[in-house]
Amino acid sequence: MTDKKFVYFDNINNTQVAPEVIKAINNVLESNPGNPASHVHSAGVNAGIIVEESRSKIADFINCDPKDIIFTSGATESNNLAIQGYLHANPDFGFVTTNIEHFSILNQARKIKMTGRSVDILPVNIDGTVNLNLLDSFLSSAPALVSISIANPEIGVIHEIETISEICHKNGSFIHCDATAAAGLMELNIIELDIDLLTLSAHNMHGPTGVGALYVKENIKIAPLFEGGNQEKGLRPGTENLSGIAGFGEACALAKKELPGRVEHLKKIGEKLWNGISDNVPFINFTGHPEKRLPGHVSFWVKHIEGESLLLLLSMNGIMVSSGSACSSNLKAKDEDELKASHVLTAVGVPSDICAGSITFSSSKYNSFEDVDHVMSVLPGLVERLLSMSPSYEDYIKSQETSNE
Ligand code: PMP
Repeated sequence: MTDKKFVYFDNINNTQVAPEVIKAINNVLESNPGNPASHVHSAGVNAGIIVEESRSKIADFINCDPKDIIFTSGATESNNLAIQGYLHANPDFGFVTTNIEHFSILNQARKIKMTGRSVDILPVNIDGTVNLNLLDSFLSSAPALVSISIANPEIGVIHEIETISEICHKNGSFIHCDATAAAGLMELNIIELDIDLLTLSAHNMHGPTGVGALYVKENIKIAPLFEGGNQEKGLRPGTENLSGIAGFGEACALAKKELPGRVEHLKKIGEKLWNGISDNVPFINFTGHPEKRLPGHVSFWVKHIEGESLLLLLSMNGIMVSSGSACSSNLKAKDEDELKASHVLTAVGVPSDICAGSITFSSSKYNSFEDVDHVMSVLPGLVERLLSMSPSYEDYIKSQETSNE
């Protein structure tokens, strides 16, 4: 019996933890009993040093002052702290976001609207990019907190954040960016991008799950979500996740060191995947902007076939990819639409009967060209098999025959 090959292309939802990160976590777990808030003895002081060292590594990664980093439990919490925290502390501001953001942002928008505050959801262009003129006109009437991701996990598009933040600031507004999908895959320089609040999460960049951070620019006022102790300047009370924070710091240091090589490798993997798929898979429709996208990210839907079926067949062949984000695929639907359609794909004009089934390949530094070869040895045959069972494809063939008669 031959070993089945397993290929992991779902890095947008979780990445393999790097060995250096595991080492940093284990060092803390094995030798550090202290709580960073216990300054009265050396174990507590050592724990505090670990937190501050990690804070510096994260700050170095995004080019900010360490004191502007707040540790959280991950991207969901950072997004909530940024948006609710900002709006609570700044009652005169409205809220603007796009229709392709993560549910940890869009569901907040629904709630904020119910409080009577001004909320605008900006529709994106068909390639997933932000309509800059529309954003400008939304902001011209009143200042708002604008929340736009750096990159979208489902369709891979990278937004023009420098221009977007310029539009926000010239209108007296402020900008929060969710960098969950982008971190570790592109340079994130907070000064150049001119961002006011930035969400980071460790598990998308070879760090552990359950730890993230929020960058809060000096002089930006936010209110805490929870009451408790004075940890994290009182903005995020509760004992810090020491081992997770140590792992996150190491993941950021690694990302900074490896970034140019990573990007080059991922671009090549992405190109090989994209070319292989476009040359060998019929009825293919790529989603998102063809160039302004995350390296190694390829997303598409295939006309006449259900993406969910393709996803399952790929999985049975050892190929792990995603259809929409992990969060939406096991979402407790708040309305019927969420059960069948990804809001991101609907927003970029994918027909709603197809929406549940687009495929996203997202790569990491651990993917190889052999992984792509394995995908290409399997994918065209699976698509052919699904087409042969597709009533829509049968109708299409019949219509072609009729028009040729
Ligand atoms: N933002 C984006 C863009 C995401 O893709 C996700 C899911 N990984 C989240 C936020 C939520 O992240 P977490 O589950 O780590 O809180």
